[in-house]
Amino acid sequence: MGTLSSLKWLNRFLSETPGDSQIGGPARQVPNVCWSRVLPKPAPDAEVRLWSDEMAKFLELSECDDEVLAGGKPVDGMDTYAQRYGGHQFGNWAGQLGDGRAITLGEVETKSQVLELQLKGSGKTPYSRFADGKAVLRSSIREFLCSEAMHHLGVPTTRALSLATTGEAVLRDMMYNGNREYEPGAVVCRVAPSFIRFGSFQIHTLMGDRKTLRTLVEHTIKNHFPDHHANDDDGIIAWAKQIAKDTAIMVAHWMRVGFVHGVMNTDNMSIHGLTIDYGPYGWIEDYNPGWTPNTTDSTHRRYRFGNQPQIAAWNLARLFESLGPLVRNTDRLNEALDFYISTYDEQNDIMWAAKLGIGDFQESDGDLVRELNLLLQKVETDMTIFFRELCTIPGPDSNHLAEAFYDSETIPHEEWNEWLGKWWQRVGGKPERGVMLKNNPKYVLRNWMAQLAIDAAEKEDYSVCKDMFKVLKTPYEEHEEFESEWYQKRPEWARHRVGCSMLSCSS
Ligand code: AMP
Ligand code: MG
Repeated sequence: MGTLSSLKWLNRFLSETPGDSQIGGPARQVPNVCWSRVLPKPAPDAEVRLWSDEMAKFLELSECDDEVLAGGKPVDGMDTYAQRYGGHQFGNWAGQLGDGRAITLGEVETKSQVLELQLKGSGKTPYSRFADGKAVLRSSIREFLCSEAMHHLGVPTTRALSLATTGEAVLRDMMYNGNREYEPGAVVCRVAPSFIRFGSFQIHTLMGDRKTLRTLVEHTIKNHFPDHHANDDDGIIAWAKQIAKDTAIMVAHWMRVGFVHGVMNTDNMSIHGLTIDYGPYGWIEDYNPGWTPNTTDSTHRRYRFGNQPQIAAWNLARLFESLGPLVRNTDRLNEALDFYISTYDEQNDIMWAAKLGIGDFQESDGDLVRELNLLLQKVETDMTIFFRELCTIPGPDSNHLAEAFYDSETIPHEEWNEWLGKWWQRVGGKPERGVMLKNNPKYVLRNWMAQLAIDAAEKEDYSVCKDMFKVLKTPYEEHEEFESEWYQKRPEWARHRVGCSMLSCSS
């Protein structure tokens, strides 16, 4: 156990892929490279406020260095840079995007894995375009708490090591309506095997730079997919299938726990199938597959809850197209896309079988799941409470699920009892309750919970964040002391409050 400077730092990405010759510099196009070296911006008053003990332990880190983690001078071994990537935003190719406010500190070799540490919100980079490179406290709390919560829910995700406040005031127009306000600045140190995205590959293909594309693919496979190779079509297709599979597993988990990413642009899709870039995400409370928390997407609702599996396929199609220059028979890339679809279907069945405790999914269970999905949308019904109560229901009687409904007067008891009867018969009166309890969380980071944590933190009180963090580390356990606070349907005040039901990309 040691300090940041005693970690074993590597810089494989910098040594194996082409980079910018300039260090830092103004926002600009940087053709034919994968990165630009850049120094984080030191914070005037750095203070680490939230810390993930598990992540620190994994990194063998016993001391937290507030200055460095808020963007101060890198320690020996760190070689700091911003990654260049592009992306399709809301279905349109947006050209070069890149790490506009993320700066990688370096890669750390731990006993079992190499992990990249990255600061989010520590200043401008050549990819900052028109923006300031900073992040505010509210969005940083949302990223810290949610990424750790997702990990403990068993959802593949990037992690968080720390959240530091910078002592700087950051100007934001939260709802893009001309009301600008100063907010406290913060920096999250996040952790993942890499932050390589679909858009990291797309940029080279779409700019006609096949050479850099190949170098990046070879780097990625060598370091992150050691069982694969890029020597021929078979190798590339097998690797593409692996990405398809990892993505399918991730999205099926999102659907299991009721997570809506909110901005599934191809620059926000991790090559490792990890949930990445926590922005205007949200959690389904009322079970509404058409819901998105992202007000920027309120017209088309492209990234709504129920559309996520299809959007992942669309994004994978864009990634696979971008691998076209590396394969002789481009038709074969369809094999990888088909594999996503079959893997997702399989994962979806496994997921529903686990949520409903029905053992192996049979074809005839499809109707049971379809009917359930329709019924859950009939009246306002809390997804998390519904499934959690179902885990312990003593018999097929909807009165035991009353807690999940917003209006006790309109519960469609008759229809529910019919469905419950079918389910009860299917499981022979013995649902696999242990499996259900491990797949239907009791606690998720409800939209209004995150807002309560933020409201307190903005008044310098981090106790709510810490209590939530504690509960969210074991989200399948009961935590009776927090039940009356957080095992609750959305309170009325949160129905239309900004930050709860409405979020923008401003962060
Ligand atoms: P996002 O939708 O948050 O994934 O961001 C899309 C692009 O905008 C990425 O290239 C980000 O790095 C960039 N970006 C977002 N916020 C900022 C900011 N405050 N300063 C600089 N770049 C930003
Ligand atoms: Mg992003």
